[in-house]
Amino acid sequence: MTDLVDRLDVESVSTSFERAAPTTILEWAVEQFGDRLVVASSFEDGVLPHMAASVKPDIEILFLDTQYHFAETLWFVDEMRRRYNLNVRVMKPLVQPDDRWQTDVAGCCGVRKVEPLNRGLAGKAAWVTGLKRVDAPTRANAPIVSWDEPRGMVKVNPLATWTALDQEIYAAEHGLVVNPLVERGYPSIGCWPCTKPVTPGDDPRSGRWVGLDKTECGLHT
Ligand code: SF4
Repeated sequence: MTDLVDRLDVESVSTSFERAAPTTILEWAVEQFGDRLVVASSFEDGVLPHMAASVKPDIEILFLDTQYHFAETLWFVDEMRRRYNLNVRVMKPLVQPDDRWQTDVAGCCGVRKVEPLNRGLAGKAAWVTGLKRVDAPTRANAPIVSWDEPRGMVKVNPLATWTALDQEIYAAEHGLVVNPLVERGYPSIGCWPCTKPVTPGDDPRSGRWVGLDKTECGLHT
């Protein structure tokens, strides 16, 4: 894998994409990795799945079914898959529903998000995420292309430089269906026990794990 990193020189590739359109970045990733490229989406919106499928129609899209999603999100996944013929692979946890989210959110995210994601990424060379720098201060310096050292693979964030408005414009231009929760004050959508609506203008992720010293589920750390 070291050869792969050297060959790609991810840092300079990332810098060269600072002004590139997300579709250009996705086209590059598809060209580099082909079927060993996978997209991970939380389906809080449909922009990344739609865009990735427009570049490679059969691209694999991972959805982590934590068993604690809002009914609206599960509906939205099915609707996106049906409308755009998406190749969605649903990853389920190896554990049954339990009460862990009430006392151990790190452990709960570990078995319901991180482990299923890592299982879904096994055998792949690169993964694509919908991470944006404006999502939260902790993501402000997110690179567009990087080496995901713990997973031993390349990570591509084609929407890193986009704003929420960019996403809205893309969704409107393509007539995308939206997750009904967005219009009810949920700009960032996770599991129902850990996601609250936010006031307009607030940090979009401030509704996640409210009152706890936790801002990430562990997928990006
Ligand atoms: S977001 Fe909450 S319910 Fe979902 S996996 Fe993490 S701790 Fe569990």
